[in-house]
Amino acid sequence: MKKIEKSSRLKNVHYEVRGELERQAFEMERLGEKILKLNIGNPPCFGLLSPDTVTDQVAEQRYLSQAYSSPEGLDRARDAILRYDIGKGITKTDVNHIFTGNGVSELISMTMDALLNAGDEVLIPSPDYPLWTAAVTMSGGKAVHYICDEESGWYPDLNDIEKKISAKTRGIVIINPNNPTGVNYPVEILSGITDIARRHGLIIFSDEIYDRLLLSEGTGTSIASLSDDVLCLTYNGLSKSHMLCGYRIGWVTISGNLDMADDYMEGLEMLASMRLCSNVPGQSLIDAALSGNMRAEEYFKEGGRVRLQRDTVYEMLNAIPGVSAVKPDAAFYIFPKIDTGIIPIYDDRKFALDLLKEKKILIVPGSGFNYPRPDHFRIVYLPPADVLKTAMGDIADFISSR
Ligand code: PLP
Repeated sequence: MKKIEKSSRLKNVHYEVRGELERQAFEMERLGEKILKLNIGNPPCFGLLSPDTVTDQVAEQRYLSQAYSSPEGLDRARDAILRYDIGKGITKTDVNHIFTGNGVSELISMTMDALLNAGDEVLIPSPDYPLWTAAVTMSGGKAVHYICDEESGWYPDLNDIEKKISAKTRGIVIINPNNPTGVNYPVEILSGITDIARRHGLIIFSDEIYDRLLLSEGTGTSIASLSDDVLCLTYNGLSKSHMLCGYRIGWVTISGNLDMADDYMEGLEMLASMRLCSNVPGQSLIDAALSGNMRAEEYFKEGGRVRLQRDTVYEMLNAIPGVSAVKPDAAFYIFPKIDTGIIPIYDDRKFALDLLKEKKILIVPGSGFNYPRPDHFRIVYLPPADVLKTAMGDIADFISSR
């Protein structure tokens, strides 16, 4: 029999957050090794949990949750999402323009599948959250990466965005607050992106899954709140803010100039219907979760454990000669740079693999985030500060021994 090969659509698709390195780590664990997993933002694994008032909803609504919901989601869940959106200034929308999904992940793929024709281009940040690039590629589109400039605090380079727009460009993706860099964009940057989208007739896809996880004062601005006339898709969910990633709860809100999007909406409704609905027990707790039942505030406030963890990794990484990192002000990621003039590490994948083997620490190489140079890596700083302190010490030892 002829060898069975995977689809050629997967040829240029990468997802290294859970890739070969993680498989190696699982294998090492099976052989009895203890691995510190700093590769994936999985808060409950490090004792960050949602209040029971939220998860108790699953039992309370167990009868209702046994049936399929409508393809878009439960009315009660979508009403709660709409109230949340309005609270963030997203007003040019309504409940019919909100879809629930099995995590933001499913909605990223669905919204790309419903939109893209072969060769259509989507502008995606570099570094990115790699699912965006993968989803565009799988949908037959072309991911065109724009620079987020480390020298400017990892903010999107508006000139580069503008330069990369072509006749085939359909939209601009932003991830705000950002994974992997952990930065929260200021209003001026967001207004600049809105302006570009308006002038070129582009859709904005804004992944805001970290919008409630801020490590500095102020609130995260939703780019959709800055205009009524630009079509925006805003993605959010409970995986991170409510530490409920296993429940797979996400949503997307379409707002702005809705008149131009009727046909796109029809496509989205078709894809939502084809998967029948998203996980209903998950949807059943959205209302309770968005009604203020959130422990993240406690973790992220001044003196909270995530701030302490951020400060620990930030200070210890920057103290390693040849390593530098921009201070994250949101989420739980940091994206340090290796100065190859000082440390002779030229291959970030090999660096990550050697670190795993020698120090039993799992990280993701920067190139896994479609970053063009192999001189960065991402660390998830969810473990307690004392664990991180030991791990950063091990990373310092490892780097200085190269
Ligand atoms: N978007 C970003 C920027 C993420 O970092 C993640 C997960 O890490 C997701 C989307 C996927 O989230 P979900 O669990 O809702 O599928």
